[in-house]
Amino acid sequence: MSELTQSEILDWLRETRASRLEELYTRADAVRKRNVGNAVHLRGLIEISNHCVRQCMYCGLRRGNRELERYRMTREEILDCARRAEQLGYGTVVMQAGEDPALTIEWIADIVRWIKRETALAITLSLGERQNHELQSWRSAGADRYLLRFETSDLELFRTIHPRSAGAPDRLMLLERLKELGYEAGGGVMVGIPGQSYESLANDVLTFRKLDLDMIGIGPYIPHARTPLGSSTLRPEIDASEQAPATEEMVYKMVALARIICPIANIPSTTALATINKTHGRKRGLSVGANVVMPNLTPVKYRSLYQIYPAKACIEESATDCNQCLRRQIHSLGRFAGRGRGGRGEVEDIHLVVPHHELVKLQVNHAL
Ligand code: SAM
Ligand code: SF4
Repeated sequence: MSELTQSEILDWLRETRASRLEELYTRADAVRKRNVGNAVHLRGLIEISNHCVRQCMYCGLRRGNRELERYRMTREEILDCARRAEQLGYGTVVMQAGEDPALTIEWIADIVRWIKRETALAITLSLGERQNHELQSWRSAGADRYLLRFETSDLELFRTIHPRSAGAPDRLMLLERLKELGYEAGGGVMVGIPGQSYESLANDVLTFRKLDLDMIGIGPYIPHARTPLGSSTLRPEIDASEQAPATEEMVYKMVALARIICPIANIPSTTALATINKTHGRKRGLSVGANVVMPNLTPVKYRSLYQIYPAKACIEESATDCNQCLRRQIHSLGRFAGRGRGGRGEVEDIHLVVPHHELVKLQVNHAL
């Protein structure tokens, strides 16, 4: 892993000169190419429920948003999406939801077992802060990966924007636990949360390294008017000169720094990035260090209801449209869509899949 210091990271986060930033992006892109290759992995996203018991101050799915019509996909609908993922040539499905207690241990475990039995797909879960025994059961059923962003490493800010019940483990602890259970663990942050300083973003990057994350999701914070943070009823205090902006540029910087500091991690170019720049956001993310995209497989009738933030990208396109659009973007960058499961350290050539340690051996032999 790279040895960038906190002050070097901070300097990059405050950098405004386009020519200097191009150096950062070029370096990150070279690190990406050397360590994870030219494949872009496609993870089919299934947003299985928008019910949530939590009250995150930033998210449109929060329990307190009574305006939102709620849905929960049926088992058959989810299995159809998984079949579709395989037909479209994806290596992974991601099942994501609000923290919904109706998604019981057995219900999820049963779906995981079915997908593992009937397809060759890797399974990623992103179902919020669940109990140890739930995570354990789903891992035993065959789930491979778990996504749980820690949102910000500034614990005081996190407590303000993410109320938790007393005694519940925080997300950083849960990420450690996920790794102990044998999951590939994915964390990440939002960029430009009110109250989030440049310094705390620099600490976020160091936290990626400390946790040695397998996947790192980074997207802009996008205000949602039906939330306390988005409607400004909650305003964490911070000096204006310290506040990190929720801009595309800040997200690109964070993606590039994450790539340099965690060279073999899987890093998506996120839907939130594609939302704030619908034309170029996703491609630009892939050019500055990202190597994953998440085409949406959720049935179109539910898409607009999974409204974490407004004007989300790709809410009207069918699974086929999303697939074609993303593949076109990948090819236009001179890259190719991965065909394997795209696990940590798996480098995929256009012809074959090689584990990272084998690739290093191949490179050494080639140099000799
Ligand atoms: N409930 C699960 C959880 O919280 O981990 C998974 C679903 S949650 C909607 C997925 C991610 O959406 C969160 O980790 C957060 O980073 C992101 N998110 C929520 N509200 C957002 C907002 N207003 N702007 C940008 N991203 C947001
Ligand atoms: Fe629920 Fe996740 Fe949104 Fe928080 S971020 S309100 S846990 S869906």
